Amino acid sequence: MFIHILNLKKSYQSGVVTTEVLKGIEMKLEKGGIGVILGPSGSGKSTLMNIIGGIDRGDSGSVVVDGIEVNQLDDNKLTTYRREQIGFVFQFYNLVPSLTVSENIEVVSHISHSPLNMDEVLEAVGIKDKKHRFPRELSGGEQQRVSIARAIIKNPKLLLCDEPTGALDYSTSRSILQLLQQVNEKYGTTILMITHNTAIAAMADRVFKLRSGEIVAESVNQIPVPAERIEW
Ligand code: ADP
Ligand code: MG
Repeated sequence: MFIHILNLKKSYQSGVVTTEVLKGIEMKLEKGGIGVILGPSGSGKSTLMNIIGGIDRGDSGSVVVDGIEVNQLDDNKLTTYRREQIGFVFQFYNLVPSLTVSENIEVVSHISHSPLNMDEVLEAVGIKDKKHRFPRELSGGEQQRVSIARAIIKNPKLLLCDEPTGALDYSTSRSILQLLQQVNEKYGTTILMITHNTAIAAMADRVFKLRSGEIVAESVNQIPVPAERIEW
């Protein structure tokens, strides 16, 4: 298993109040797979994804990603893991407004070791002609394509997408989902994606439903649906 999580727990402390956000998560995803996490706001989806990606830490339990015990890494090794192995895509793109498209993509560390280069990823995400534009000169969908290019240029083993279509309209969402499916196929990148939209789950190999910090349902799609055929 590429991702294998056992009994992961996480609480946040605020003054004297402790809130248990993850209550013993168990999760598996195979290499090259697409996993989707569904669940209401506040159910712990982003916390879970951030722990898998080394942005946050679990309190207890085991989080293994491609043989690495993520929860056991010291701070330096966790940073290296995150920089070398993980790509992140967020709802609001997180681009630097004062940098052009190609400069936004170049800020990523570790790209010198990558087999991919700027022109190839710009081509792959379909914005080769917009290389010298600034984020404000792009539509939301185009900005999300830049953020996907930034995430994949280091050829990460795992691409983590936290509500990647949350700020986009229907047809733009569909084209972004298609792009993520293409990245998964072309580069063999394992993808874990958070969404509110149950229809999107049809394109996943595995679906995890999270509620109040627990996985309450899990399903396996034998034949994931191509994003362009999803109706919602
Ligand atoms: P989701 O992504 O499913 O909306 P989150 O993982 O962001 O949920 O948050 C789950 C719960 O943890 C929420 O109740 C949220 O308020 C709390 N939480 C998230 N991050 C922090 C933090 N850094 N400090 C304190 N509480 C947090
Ligand atoms: Mg969230």
